[in-house]
Amino acid sequence: MKGFLDNIRRVTPYTPGEQPSGKVIKLNTNECPYPPSPKVVEALKNMDHERLRLYPEIACESLTAALADYYGIKQAQIFAGVGSDDVLSMCFLTFFAGKKPILFPDITYSFYDVWAEVYGIPYEKKALDRDFGIIASDYYGENGGVVIANPNAPTGILQSLDFIEDIVKHNPDSVVIVDEAYIDFGGETALPLIDRYENVIVVRTMSKSRALAGMRIGYAFGAPDLIRALNDVKYSVNSYTMNTPSLIAGKAAIEDDAYFREIISKVIRTRIRGEEELCKLGFRLRPSSTNFIFAAPPEGYSAEDIFARLKERGIYVRYFRQPERISDHLRITVGTDEEMKALITALEEITGG
Ligand code: PMP
Repeated sequence: MKGFLDNIRRVTPYTPGEQPSGKVIKLNTNECPYPPSPKVVEALKNMDHERLRLYPEIACESLTAALADYYGIKQAQIFAGVGSDDVLSMCFLTFFAGKKPILFPDITYSFYDVWAEVYGIPYEKKALDRDFGIIASDYYGENGGVVIANPNAPTGILQSLDFIEDIVKHNPDSVVIVDEAYIDFGGETALPLIDRYENVIVVRTMSKSRALAGMRIGYAFGAPDLIRALNDVKYSVNSYTMNTPSLIAGKAAIEDDAYFREIISKVIRTRIRGEEELCKLGFRLRPSSTNFIFAAPPEGYSAEDIFARLKERGIYVRYFRQPERISDHLRITVGTDEEMKALITALEEITGG
């Protein structure tokens, strides 16, 4: 027997959405359908290539300075990483070293279980209510930490700032992570809480609302003590996480607020139209506060079957077989108006609508 086999860490990895090549309509991984700001493109073009010879900034200070300026907070309240997946993973590793289970909803971003497993963090999943709402009191008891995506994914449902604050207030002995990957599409951020509570971390990404998924830029807001702890763990794993082009692109993106607002409002307009069209076809859905629509097909149609038939037509949406409670839903990223039109036409054909 090869003894080393016993020493290998075995994990069941997170399953990301497919990244098909070629010309398809890609509505499966919540990317922005529009290009990044022209200022990002310009900044990358003008980058002094000599900088690639050198290691990047260890503390990502050019990016965190731009973020501090934009959000009106201190640089010491910001941590940056390689997409919010990296930031969240660092948060799990840093803040959840206790023995009590951490808590998160049973239907939420499916990476949370994976990080808990790989880092050996005990966890407990709390069931959403019948309407996919989070039950605040489930998070009042003793725990090792709390993770809430707001708006939640893949449901697209937003909770109010009061709701989030209530959970933070009930957990003075735990770090509460608020994953705000989709907050720019219509929610109220928990950012103001970081000045009033020492135990809250708010995580953001440039992958969706700033059209930079390919650059892998994420960041977190929190009290300076929490940010210091995050950086200490980061420096104990990999000192140079974000690369120089990403730092440059992130700074340029945050500085172009007009473009950001323009693409957000386009996505929201298209989302509302898409929701109306899907309702007309008999799909059942709740109003989304994100850049995707979570919808159950009309009675008599299977989500899995529609997913497969859309794929045959070159239209990719996301289907989750697990958890079972959502296996009758599709998660559809909001594309351009043209892409959504093609989706609706295909759905009309499939459902005979
Ligand atoms: N949180 C949620 C809720 C998400 O849906 C995603 C996207 N998969 C992420 C975090 C991670 O996004 P990224 O790593 O691209 O910032």
